[in-house]
Amino acid sequence: MVLAELGQKIGAALQKMSKKTVVGEEEVKELLNEIARALLQADVNISIVKQLQTSIKTEVALTEEAVGMNKRKILQQAVFNAIRKILDPGVKPFVPRKNVPSVVMFVGLQGSGKTTSCTKYAAFFQRKGLKTALVCADTFRAGAYDQLKQNATKAKVRFYGSIVEADPVVIAREGVAELKKEKYDLIIVDTSGRHRQESALFDEMKQVQEAIQPNDIVFVMSATDGQGVHEQAAQFKAKVPVGSVIVTKLDCHAKGGGALSAVAATKSPIIFIGTGEHVEDFELFKPEAFVAKMLG
Ligand code: GDP
Repeated sequence: MVLAELGQKIGAALQKMSKKTVVGEEEVKELLNEIARALLQADVNISIVKQLQTSIKTEVALTEEAVGMNKRKILQQAVFNAIRKILDPGVKPFVPRKNVPSVVMFVGLQGSGKTTSCTKYAAFFQRKGLKTALVCADTFRAGAYDQLKQNATKAKVRFYGSIVEADPVVIAREGVAELKKEKYDLIIVDTSGRHRQESALFDEMKQVQEAIQPNDIVFVMSATDGQGVHEQAAQFKAKVPVGSVIVTKLDCHAKGGGALSAVAATKSPIIFIGTGEHVEDFELFKPEAFVAKMLG
């Protein structure tokens, strides 16, 4: 996974600086440039790279004024804080609870791993003791019904769907109503995977959201998606109130920088990461630990 490579590059740049006898303005500039290069190579959006450079510079300037600390230490801390700040948008993600009925809607581009992640998410909270169900509101892609049904059966999660009803809004509304009556704690609604230009599908996503009024909307993105993620994530956020992000395929040869972009574009935290095709290949995301590991 190249995200680790990014961490190594930033770590190497910091180490190179720490070997210098003098750390002046030139050295700081060189370090910031090296970090920017590493981030851009990892597909992090240019506006985020600039934001990161500014926040490092500001923190360094402020800390220098406040305490006469070692400049290298200040810089290290500033780099760590700046990346952590981007990964942590400062909002607490929605967490489903037992005996508190909730509805969570999944959205994302086709092929991002949305359907797989729905099942992983369902299995995760079912293991935590929540009565969990999955609703297939994807009538657009042939095979979506069978895929989610099979996944749900394998994970022993209650499945709701229809092969006769063509309107996803009706399926979502009726499914949520029925499962609420059956006292499910967590009802997860999978929607059709969208492509960028398909405005009809975006409208349909909005209608599903209005019909079921979810407690959270999870945007699923693949770490393999690269630079395009920022714009895509922003488009989803403009249409529906995305509250969380799941980054999939971090096991693949992915640059992973798009994850930072998705957080920035949706102002939503990453809640889980997908690390494989199987239901257990799913981890809770902890920004602090992630950045610490990234920077070694
Ligand atoms: P959807 O179109 O967004 O619903 O995507 P799917 O859930 O059908 O996933 C598309 C493909 O990506 C499938 O072959 C999944 O097995 C695969 N996939 C999903 N998540 C991961 C992951 O975390 N790692 C890997 N390697 N493959 C994944």
